[in-house]
Amino acid sequence: MSAPQPPQAPADVPTLLVKIFGKDRPGITAGLFDTLAAFSVDVVDLEQVVTRGRIVLCALVTEPARGLEGELRSTVHSWADSLKLQAEIISGVGDNRPRGEGRSHVTVLGHPLTAESTAAIAARITATGGNIDRIFRLAKYPVTAVEFAVSGTPTEPLRTALATEAAALGVDVAVVSAGLHRRAQRLVVMDVDSTLIQDEVIELFAAHAGCEEQVAEVTARAMRGELDFEQSLHARVALLEGLDASVVEKVRAEVQLTPGARTLVRTLKRLGYQVGVVSGGFTQVTDDLRERLGLDFAHANTLEIVDGKLTGKVTGEIVDRAGKARLLRRFAQEAGVPLEQTVAIGDGANDLDMLNAAGLGVAFNAKPVVREAAHTAVNFPFLDTVLYLLGVTLEEVEAADAHEA
Ligand SMILES: [Mg+2]
Repeated sequence: MSAPQPPQAPADVPTLLVKIFGKDRPGITAGLFDTLAAFSVDVVDLEQVVTRGRIVLCALVTEPARGLEGELRSTVHSWADSLKLQAEIISGVGDNRPRGEGRSHVTVLGHPLTAESTAAIAARITATGGNIDRIFRLAKYPVTAVEFAVSGTPTEPLRTALATEAAALGVDVAVVSAGLHRRAQRLVVMDVDSTLIQDEVIELFAAHAGCEEQVAEVTARAMRGELDFEQSLHARVALLEGLDASVVEKVRAEVQLTPGARTLVRTLKRLGYQVGVVSGGFTQVTDDLRERLGLDFAHANTLEIVDGKLTGKVTGEIVDRAGKARLLRRFAQEAGVPLEQTVAIGDGANDLDMLNAAGLGVAFNAKPVVREAAHTAVNFPFLDTVLYLLGVTLEEVEAADAHEA
């Protein structure tokens, strides 16, 4: 037996592109290659998509031996005719040109995804010098999510250009650089209030203490920039002084997870991610969430309880804007995951340092100021849409759930 020959440079090899289009059914790929096998051709490339029951199968094969191309063409056409498929065979040389430098994944989420938005996004990619190499759908429900593999333009300017376009169109666009590190992302850290859960925990406590209005007033002052986070935390917690500690149980029961939260955490855990939360809220709630969801990390402020009553004080290290970023770093270190391989998700201004420190920072249903400063924004109230940004498809999520059930 002779030693295997090194493959010829694809650019030099005469090739045939065989495109089959028509109603999908089992056996098309086997049938085509059975037909081609009679001509001893080699497969250079092979791609297939099925859209609403119609198949597009493209096979790039080496040219058959001299004089046999005509026979190959007529054999493939008669096979295709027998199955009512359309066949097109184009002679040429070589393979695809190598993809350009500067590769990104662009995920577009729309509800609905309009033709107009798609046109605008694609035009903007082209305008930045990028080429769309591949497109596929990640999810059809509850949002339509498609991913474009783009090359030929650096990720950062593409992200900036598309963020502006997305805001104008009312769709979400996430741009992440392509490469192995995307698949190696291994730690997700989430904010809690209005991110993992729908509530603001301090407001749930305030309702029991009958001081919702005063708490809301402090929150409004903080929003106006009259108080920093720590001042507003102390001012709001002070209003809870004297509240019976039994309220903690009631608040835990009232907390409502954000839709998709369980799916997100469950899927991430299956994929081998570590998942944590950091909260400017309270350990009395986050410890419970950690237990319920099987989280790896949780850190928050602690409401001081003495003799069965809340004292109106918090104990320990205050989790504020800088604290959240610090905790992300600490969790990453404990998890043995480089910071570039972390994902942070949050909705508030106090999440911004954490979002910017992470490899991928996702502003989740955030205020415009947070949205604009983050890498990526998701503006649908479903936490599991974050999975699409990581390239996980709805189909994969559902299949994993069905397998476990
Ligand atoms: Mg929040």
